[in-house]
Amino acid sequence: MAVVGGGVIGAAVAWHLARRGHDVVVFDQRRGGVAATAQSGGLLRLHHTADCDIALAARALPTFQRFGELVGGDCGHRPTGFALLVGAEHGEALRHNVDKVRAAGGKAEVAEPDALAARYPGLRLDGVAAAAHEPDGGYADPAATARPLFDAARARGARVLDDVPAEHLLVRDDRVVGVRCAIGEVDVDAVVLAAGVWSAGLAEEVGVDLRIGPRWIAIALAHAEADVPACIDDTTGNHFRPNGGQGVYFGVDLDPGDEPVGTYFPVRPELVTAARA
Ligand SMILES: Cc1cc2nc3c(=O)[nH]c(=O)nc-3n(C[C@H](O)[C@H](O)[C@H](O)COP(=O)(O)OP(=O)(O)OC[C@H]3O[C@@H](n4cnc5c(N)ncnc54)[C@H](O)[C@@H]3O)c2cc1C
Repeated sequence: MAVVGGGVIGAAVAWHLARRGHDVVVFDQRRGGVAATAQSGGLLRLHHTADCDIALAARALPTFQRFGELVGGDCGHRPTGFALLVGAEHGEALRHNVDKVRAAGGKAEVAEPDALAARYPGLRLDGVAAAAHEPDGGYADPAATARPLFDAARARGARVLDDVPAEHLLVRDDRVVGVRCAIGEVDVDAVVLAAGVWSAGLAEEVGVDLRIGPRWIAIALAHAEADVPACIDDTTGNHFRPNGGQGVYFGVDLDPGDEPVGTYFPVRPELVTAARA
């Protein structure tokens, strides 16, 4: 089996395949774990809108909780709790999603802002009408999650090739049968596309429109300590979490009109103000 992409998804796929006895080769165009995976806030929550996302997150959470035992190593899992904060207009949808999380076996409750602030004194909840609270939520370190997954896959015979981009997918009789790359043509039984946003280009070559594209998120580290859970604040568009005793990590959605300066997107001042609050 070939896995194209060495981010956290490619690492997890390689581990699952290798421990089931498959012969696995992973290609990464650079070094695994440095793309979206390295920038991610790593928030762990079951609260999603789509049922399939809730089911997937419910199935994945125990792996983070028992990472040392199941995979080996430390994925930086911190069960700080998770909260989704919404304004009055999204209260009903939030309650509906909390019900779905519970139906999937997760622990979740609708929390009044006052009760949440009492539990996490670092939260400022102006404009928040309702919150979904998951006591088992939190965050993990995405790059530190990928590394042990690769180590465990390698220990079961997987080969992980850095700096070897998959240039094309090989197709025979209407089936993908391999990968062409700098080391030649590699024939395999199946190719798993785990190249993140780059998957779209490879899939397009074989006639599949994945309908995905990049979404830019600015990240910032505030040098302050605050007693907060891992949090998505829908009222400001921020997500944030404690950063292992070293400040608070913030992620802020960028507008399509935001222009990069070099490789960086400056965060608009009003978003910094919102994050400070
Ligand atoms: C700022 C930010 C915050 C986020 N916060 C969260 C969060 O709190 N919680 C959460 O669940 N998710 C979060 N995400 C999303 C999460 O980071 C991604 O869903 C996840 O990292 C995707 O992993 P991936 O392996 O699919 O992609 P990537 O990490 O992007 O890996 C794709 C890999 O494919 C390789 N590749 C590309 N093309 C080729 C090719 N042709 N041949 C070989 N290799 C190739 C790349 O080099 C790369 O290493 C966040 C993302 C960002 C950017």
